Amino acid sequence: MLQDQDRIFTNLYGMHDRTLAGAKARGHWDGTAKLIQEGRDKIIDTMKASGLRGRGGAGFPTGLKWSFMPKESDGRPAYLVINADESEPGTCKDREIMRHDPHTLIEGALIASFAMNAHTCYIYIRGEYIREREALQAAIDEAYDAGLLGKNAAGSGWDFDLFLHHGAGAYICGEETALLESLEGKKGMPRMKPPFPAGAGLYGCPTTVNNVESIAVVPTILRRGGEWFASFGRPNNAGTKLFGISGHVNNPCVVEEEMSISFEELIEKHCGGIRGGWDNLLAVIPGGSSVPCVRGENMRDAIMDFDYLRNDLGSGLGTAAVIVMDKQTDIVKAIWRLSKFYKHESCGQCTPCREGTGWMMRVMDRLVKGEAEIEEIDMLWDVTKQVEGHTICALGDAAAWPIQGLIRNFRDEIEDRIKANKTGRKSAIAAE
Ligand code: SF4
Repeated sequence: MLQDQDRIFTNLYGMHDRTLAGAKARGHWDGTAKLIQEGRDKIIDTMKASGLRGRGGAGFPTGLKWSFMPKESDGRPAYLVINADESEPGTCKDREIMRHDPHTLIEGALIASFAMNAHTCYIYIRGEYIREREALQAAIDEAYDAGLLGKNAAGSGWDFDLFLHHGAGAYICGEETALLESLEGKKGMPRMKPPFPAGAGLYGCPTTVNNVESIAVVPTILRRGGEWFASFGRPNNAGTKLFGISGHVNNPCVVEEEMSISFEELIEKHCGGIRGGWDNLLAVIPGGSSVPCVRGENMRDAIMDFDYLRNDLGSGLGTAAVIVMDKQTDIVKAIWRLSKFYKHESCGQCTPCREGTGWMMRVMDRLVKGEAEIEEIDMLWDVTKQVEGHTICALGDAAAWPIQGLIRNFRDEIEDRIKANKTGRKSAIAAE
């Protein structure tokens, strides 16, 4: 279990002063200029040594991503864009950073931008995050007033501007290229890749898009060393991580913990256990709504990291937004609700997603009531496979995977409901 002295986010719950003075008292903005003056290579090497993998869901190594940015400018400016469009159902970790601990993000933005040769950084914040935007903007203003941003930021010799951009509330703008389109003032529609943003991103210039948590942990990693961060979690799954646990636990919460903590420990230590006890656990979505659900009995000993959840359970850590469902849940209806969400949020640009999400949702509509034939379960599976991997962006996969998880793990439940509908055995059929 993570010790208090190893926590990066020391004001996650807003119990302390979130202003600059409070942040400094907790160790932020301490020797920032010195960290920067150690140079780009040192910063990127430390990030690589830390083993940090992107905290926005994909888990791509952060130091490696930074190293894709051109070392020398060809005349074009470089940009860092921070993805604060936290919109995935179940995910609510970045908002805690922005509203309670904003200075660690701002300091991280300065250091990371320097490491990528960027004089400008944009934070793209989700449309619905009004209070978070206010808190973050207040912190940015404070940092400008104190000379930590702007010309010769924090006395480092690096000129740096940080802008907060408020989105309009579309889920797809969390996809990095749709985010860039939106930032440029266009409709938030994903771009074809390549070119990747490191080659041609914002305004056609080299750009790195990173998640809020990935950037907010940077100053502490540099102060305490890559090895310190890498000492938590299993190899290839390093560091501390914010977990957001929602659903049928006694105390839903967001908590910073070691990567690779067991699911049982996470739930028992921080969430007061499963509602109704472990025997009442039905299913868990371990990484935000787009990863497949896992049966409760397979989760108890699960290790909460990228590799275990993917390789051993066929799911994913994603954003570590853990959605817990007990046996009172109508699992078919729960997954139907996600299908409805993805259908609603599809940008409509590519056919398998535009048509497939609607098709999948309509079949799920009928499965909830058992008004289908057993063969349609396989047909639905086939459609998810035709959507998965055949679209411009990952929303297609995100719509397909929850249904695949449902069919893989709860096929008996779906079949039972179809049979019950045919025989009039209504008790097995979900309530309207
Ligand atoms: Fe748009 Fe869906 Fe295609 Fe992504 S997969 S570009 S959301 S239509």
